[in-house]
Amino acid sequence: MSITVTRDWLNRRHRTLHMTIRDIDCATFDVAQTIELFQRWKVSLFSFFAGGYITTYPTNLPWQRMAPGLNGRDLCGEIIDAARKAGIITFPMIDLGEIPLEVAERNPDWVGRKADGSFYMKTDGIATACPLGGYIRECSIELLRELTGRYEIDGIKWGGASYGGVPGVCHCEHCRQRFAQDTGGSLPDKRSPEYEEWRYGILRETVRYLAEAVHQCAPIPVMGNLVWRLGRGQEVDDLCRSQDFVQVEVQTRTWNIQDDDSPASWDRFSTPIETTRYVSNLTRRPPWVVASTFLAWPWRRVAVPHAEQKLYLAQIAANGGSPMANLTTGSPLQHPDPRSFSAIEELYNFMADHAGVYDGDVSAARVAIVYDADSAALARRQNRLERGFLIEIQGAEDALDRAHIPYDLIPSAGLATADSRRYACLVLPAAEALSDEACAAVERLAACGVGVVALGAPATRDAAGSLRPSPLLALLGAGTIGDPQPFLRSSPHLGPSQAYLKHDGRHPIVAGIECPLIAVAGYWHPVTPKAGMAIPVRRGAAFRLFPEGLSRADQPDPDEPMALVRDEPTVRTVYYPFQWGYALSRVSHPDNDLLLTNAVQWAARDDVAAQLKGLSDVRLSLRATPGRLHCHLVNTTGRRRYLTEFAPVSDFTVRLACAKPPRAVRQASSGAALPFDWSSGWAAIHVPRLVDYDVLSLELA
Ligand SMILES: [Zn+2]
Repeated sequence: MSITVTRDWLNRRHRTLHMTIRDIDCATFDVAQTIELFQRWKVSLFSFFAGGYITTYPTNLPWQRMAPGLNGRDLCGEIIDAARKAGIITFPMIDLGEIPLEVAERNPDWVGRKADGSFYMKTDGIATACPLGGYIRECSIELLRELTGRYEIDGIKWGGASYGGVPGVCHCEHCRQRFAQDTGGSLPDKRSPEYEEWRYGILRETVRYLAEAVHQCAPIPVMGNLVWRLGRGQEVDDLCRSQDFVQVEVQTRTWNIQDDDSPASWDRFSTPIETTRYVSNLTRRPPWVVASTFLAWPWRRVAVPHAEQKLYLAQIAANGGSPMANLTTGSPLQHPDPRSFSAIEELYNFMADHAGVYDGDVSAARVAIVYDADSAALARRQNRLERGFLIEIQGAEDALDRAHIPYDLIPSAGLATADSRRYACLVLPAAEALSDEACAAVERLAACGVGVVALGAPATRDAAGSLRPSPLLALLGAGTIGDPQPFLRSSPHLGPSQAYLKHDGRHPIVAGIECPLIAVAGYWHPVTPKAGMAIPVRRGAAFRLFPEGLSRADQPDPDEPMALVRDEPTVRTVYYPFQWGYALSRVSHPDNDLLLTNAVQWAARDDVAAQLKGLSDVRLSLRATPGRLHCHLVNTTGRRRYLTEFAPVSDFTVRLACAKPPRAVRQASSGAALPFDWSSGWAAIHVPRLVDYDVLSLELA
């Protein structure tokens, strides 16, 4: 049983840092000046290396590698002491996954083994620990006892490597016996789906084991770290359940470890929004969301430019997380490139000056995008995670962001217990393997008046990926669904020909789309509409592309339904039986955005909480504290990554839903009371200027 540790500060939003202390940083680390700097930055909590890779105090444990530069110095104790005097919370961090080779040779049953019995090596002189071996199991307890015996500690953070694991199959004796006991079989040569599932079970067990180990040593909170992104497995859900606190990384700006011909890929700039919204919905406490201050990866020594760093961290602050800046190479005073530090100082000072905006706040979004882990897993197994799954869910995020419709990102597993008053509309992008329980929950919520917008082939894939009838189709007004068909075809007779969507120009879901044709790409599903469904969008005939003098449709419009709309006094649903997100990514036309944002607005009966015209690169999120509504605005205007300057926007109007006229509206950066008009449940607030990140706070009547 895990213990839940309660402390007042656990529920607060923090301004946080992590310091990677290397062995060579220990001798010259200036604790007093570092803590003074943190006070100037208004850091409220930080973590730092205490044990594992290296130990930053004089340990008595024979297996623990002490930092060579330490020379008897108790750096860990000095840091804890100085931080406590300054009122800053500290989390010593332990990363136990790596064993020095001489220790590994003395204790070979701690080490991950290849099939030939040799050690898995992390790097020269350092072996990789097996999660079932004594290094991670028994040594973790010894290290915790030593640390909690020496110091009064606020909490312990486990580095992700502590959960162990080798890159292939571990053939050590622990794994061999345990695999046989759990599955009745013997270890495979290569990772198989069965082995992956078993290994995931061991990971979960290790995460729980290390959390309980901390609680058994001292009544202090434990936090686990994870490198996780949307579309990966459900590790983050498990971590959120078993730890007092969760840290998740959004720090990868480029992924370029192999210096070869493969292109460097960029993470989406809005990854902090996505991750923070998802994880803060899973946890009871604000998660720490980590962004590096340096160029990741592999350039640890050059800083992210000021503007990029500030807006990256601001997206965490604006969405319910505690921003954490990941420093490298010791104290920031030892860092070779301090250029991103002013961004931390500015943002954390802003957060500290307006603590009432952040502490105890909750999302006030009225729209939720449903993330279905089973559908992600199916897409991963079929090698179409990016093209078949993420492109739909992230397309929906981007379109709602550009339209400034605040949304939450929620796990489908939470639908069963969701309160029907919480959201006005659910969006189901690529939820192809949605469970029957989740479908039943969507039906229940829809019957209570929650609008539903579904894309693609929702809930219709079985574990092998084949189409099956789903209870959700009936809710969406479809009788049957058929195999996917391409919009762009090529035939010997016509050459390539492209189909369009065509619409009636009357229904609210096509409002603002001036041309009767909409450019589209990817695949569509034939569906049979049930009686009484409105079909405002259909498939138009394919146009021959070449030769240009013959570029026309040779056939009449086939008119298959491309939007099924159910409009009843209580139930409102919109179903697009085609790859909306894929089409958006290919065409990138505002009409493609409008198909989704209009549908959400209509299905939510205009209960979308916020409206802002234009300024599509201003990211809006809406949060609430008792008696107050906070509209966070992050201005990411600017085309080139890295962003190197802010592009201020001026004189615009934000409309926010509030039942009665607010008592006052204040802009956090200036402290100014802003003029507003109020009518029919909406306050229209005039914002004179937005530079980078700001908050409009409404005092509600
Ligand atoms: Zn093993």
